[in-house]
Amino acid sequence: MRVQENLNMIKANIDSACEKVKRDPKDIRIIAVTKYVSIDRAAEAVEAGILDLGENRDEGLQAKWDVLKDKPTWHFIGTLQTRKVKNIIDKVDCIHSLDRLSLAKEINKRTDKVVDCLVQVNVSGEESKQGIDPNDAIEFINALKPLTNIRVIGLMTMAPFTSDEEILRSSFKRLKGLQEQVQFLRLAHAPCNELSMGMSNDFIIAIEEGATMVRIGTALVGNES
Ligand SMILES: *Cc1c(COP(=O)(O)O)cnc(C)c1O
Repeated sequence: MRVQENLNMIKANIDSACEKVKRDPKDIRIIAVTKYVSIDRAAEAVEAGILDLGENRDEGLQAKWDVLKDKPTWHFIGTLQTRKVKNIIDKVDCIHSLDRLSLAKEINKRTDKVVDCLVQVNVSGEESKQGIDPNDAIEFINALKPLTNIRVIGLMTMAPFTSDEEILRSSFKRLKGLQEQVQFLRLAHAPCNELSMGMSNDFIIAIEEGATMVRIGTALVGNES
């Protein structure tokens, strides 16, 4: 399928989800996750009008960045090793996987601009999932205050690997609740207006529960493997 056809279908689904919960589709950013696909396919996504691309490894980001440069907005969505920060920091606009202080310190050190970050939270408590414990999130965000090159624009999560709608929904609700707690604190370094949640299989539920960024790979650009 052409990216354009997938995009049209996804947009139609987003529109109906928004209609259902009285949200404006303009408030939802579609991030095309291109980690599985070729540079050509990523270029096709940009041609189709997608403004945001997501990669989860520094090599993948580098390869696509070399061709597409700053045409799209780049999102880093994967586990980020501290020693890899210097490879990606000048190429990405937004890091969705901030989950520890050592990483935050390295980001802060390697740039002289303010980097938009999302704190990754493990709402499901699954061992295999990255992200900080929801109970530690507020303390973690407070601890970022001295790191003046980091702005916490929101929270990110990966839902549990399940098709159980109620479990998915409660994970997204939990992240939304945490966002409200952070916003209530009115921290200058953490406006926390974004919620990055929802992937190919669960983006509709995520939007119903307040997602402002959905990270869609398979359903949008495909999965070549
Ligand atoms: C791969 C990946 C996605 C996209 O997954 P799909 O199910 O293919 O849409 C979204 N977020 C993260 C963090 C990923 O690693």
